Amino acid sequence: MSSTSPSGVGIAHLPNQKHKIISKKGAHYTLMVCGESGLGKTTFINTLFATTIKDSRLPEKRFAKQLDKTVEIEVTKAELEEKLFKIKLSIIDTPGFGDYVNNRDSWIPIVDFIDDQHENYMRQEQQPTRHGKIDMRVHACLYFIRPTGHSLKPLDIEVMKRLGSRVNLIPVIAKADTLTPKDLAKFKENVREVIQQYNISVYACAVDSDDEDTTARNQNIVDASPYAVIGSTEIINIDGKQVRGREYSWGVAEVENDDHCDFKKLRNLLIRTHMLDLISSTEEMHYEHYRQQQMANRKFGEPKVPRTKKVENPKLREKEEELRKSFTEKVRDEESRFRQWEQQLIQERNRLNKDLESQHAHIKHLESELDNLYQHGRSGSMRR
Ligand code: GDP
Repeated sequence: MSSTSPSGVGIAHLPNQKHKIISKKGAHYTLMVCGESGLGKTTFINTLFATTIKDSRLPEKRFAKQLDKTVEIEVTKAELEEKLFKIKLSIIDTPGFGDYVNNRDSWIPIVDFIDDQHENYMRQEQQPTRHGKIDMRVHACLYFIRPTGHSLKPLDIEVMKRLGSRVNLIPVIAKADTLTPKDLAKFKENVREVIQQYNISVYACAVDSDDEDTTARNQNIVDASPYAVIGSTEIINIDGKQVRGREYSWGVAEVENDDHCDFKKLRNLLIRTHMLDLISSTEEMHYEHYRQQQMANRKFGEPKVPRTKKVENPKLREKEEELRKSFTEKVRDEESRFRQWEQQLIQERNRLNKDLESQHAHIKHLESELDNLYQHGRSGSMRR
């Protein structure tokens, strides 16, 4: 099933050389949404489809195992077509993430899914006939952040770090309509700071271009990150104008209004201006990184080395090494302090023993003096 977007998907505006890559291969383009459940991921996908594509294929379901529980990975497919250029768009929803009481490991199936797509592609590339490859590599992963007004949670930081090292990670602030503009601006700032502080690698598109307008537009897109979004399946009538939004007693939070949220900027980035950059950076950076890492760690034909369990984050390993070093130093210091103390105790004991001996000798001397006196006393009284 294919359709043409109301405003055009922008493929026809791509530079010539890039055109060829897309049109010849009929590019696959895969987006993924993840984050805690209830943050509006499914609504966002529906909003994106509804405002971009007239028609889409029904969701396909895949299952990834998380211990004995199941995380459902749902794929919605559509074809974008513009002036003979075709893009096979898949959007992957991960509704199970963060649902469990013990949700520390709930991100593993998501990270494994991303790695598995690289693995599948790599295996197909190693086959004698390499055309007709199935490509489900994830080109962008939208990470939904709960609009708490504070900052990222430790679990967000951990998961975002893992995702950022293997995919183009795009942070998204969910339900922007639940924060006041002032709180939203502050929250964005906090999230940006934490991303920097923890060295989380997020997608950064190139800003500079030969054309001033394009540079300004790119800068505008970069500055808006993390993207605050409002999702809605409702169309509301405002003074005869039909808008997509969420209706409140105080008014309407509009999805496609730049003063209300960054939905349009994010959609532009994903579907128009930076789609090709997301595709090529996945190929050149993330897939290449996976391929090289696997090549270095296994022989041809061997199964994949699980990166989620065995290959740790080098930064964490560095930190662990630092901790181990400082622990060893502390133990060494304590040991030498203990030895000195032990020496002092031995010296003190010797001193006390000597003291005791001299006291003992003194007592003996006094006792013999006493004996003498006693002897003298007795012989004197006998003489009388
Ligand atoms: P998911 O579990 O992340 O896929 O979340 P859903 O898309 O199922 O949405 C969960 C609830 O949040 C639903 O009741 C939605 O109507 C609501 N919701 C979705 N997007 C928004 C939003 O932008 N703002 C607000 N206020 N609610 C939203």
